[in-house]
Amino acid sequence: MLTNLNSSESPKHPAQPYLVMVIPCYNEEEMLHITARALSEKISELMQFQLVSDNSCVLFVDDGSKDRTWQIIEELHKQYPSMFHGLKLAHNKGHQNALYSGLMQALDMNADVAVSMDADLQDDPNAINSMIEAYEKGAEIVYGVRDNRDTDSAFKRGTARMFYRVMRSLGTETVPDHADFRLMSRRALSALAEYKESNLFLRGIVPSLGFTTAKVYYKRGKREAGESKYPLKKMISFAVEGITSFSTKPLSIITGLGILSVLAGIAMLIYTIVSVCTGHAVAGWGSLMFSLWFVGGLILVSLGVIGEYIAKVYIEVKNRPRYIVEEFI
Ligand code: UDP
Ligand code: MG
Repeated sequence: MLTNLNSSESPKHPAQPYLVMVIPCYNEEEMLHITARALSEKISELMQFQLVSDNSCVLFVDDGSKDRTWQIIEELHKQYPSMFHGLKLAHNKGHQNALYSGLMQALDMNADVAVSMDADLQDDPNAINSMIEAYEKGAEIVYGVRDNRDTDSAFKRGTARMFYRVMRSLGTETVPDHADFRLMSRRALSALAEYKESNLFLRGIVPSLGFTTAKVYYKRGKREAGESKYPLKKMISFAVEGITSFSTKPLSIITGLGILSVLAGIAMLIYTIVSVCTGHAVAGWGSLMFSLWFVGGLILVSLGVIGEYIAKVYIEVKNRPRYIVEEFI
């Protein structure tokens, strides 16, 4: 009988959720009109199909742009006050922070679901239909996952694959080929609000929230206008951010190296003793090698021990929630 209670016959979430689309924008004056039109058409279609509520809207987050981005957002809001909203950050704080501020604003607006996507329409708005469907079936987080990486250069493909592999080996859960195109329910947003850290790597934090999740596959297109705001330099610092904000393993690696070096020192000592005993010793060489490896090893082990404490401090300082309650009955 119990299985009946668990059956997915009745949807877990309300039909026609209030949707807020969160779009971070940095110097996107060339894209904004195109994006605004595409998104308002999408939302109107979703309203028509009664997939979302009538007050659903778009929230543009201006990440301290230096061009006309904010003026355009203001004009859009004046023309269509219920469809377009804007949030202006005083400085350029980067994509992840802009996105987070928008998601928190959506939570304040009492959104049932927030869908985040880039301003350049590389993510396919048509995937939102399936995202809402997955939400209605009970998913709290729905990841938009690219079905292939054909539109990327071989370099970007290769580095992306390497990045996901390194992340996994360091113990961080990420969803491969998922950028920040995703749906989050109000419950998932409230959980995200508990993460107060300032070094944000949402692609790592969101999977660590738990909850019921789903994936929707889509084809990622090319940027339609303007240029990428993610040059190689930003990509590398993003990858470093991802690794260091989730893993303290690089610090433990130092201890491992130190132990290896001490062992090499001991091997040198044994070799020296043996060569002295057999009369093959070269004067000075053995003792020099021994002390080099041994002392080097001791220094590394000491650094590693300090690293372990720094790691603990780092984790405490982040003040992440210890757990997130999904339900209480
Ligand atoms: N973006 C942002 N702040 C930044 C850099 C980028 O809000 O400092 C936004 C940008 O406007 C876009 C999204 O982040 O909506 C993704 O940037 P982009 O498309 O340039 O990255 P790519 O797709 O080339 O990796
Ligand atoms: Mg892009």
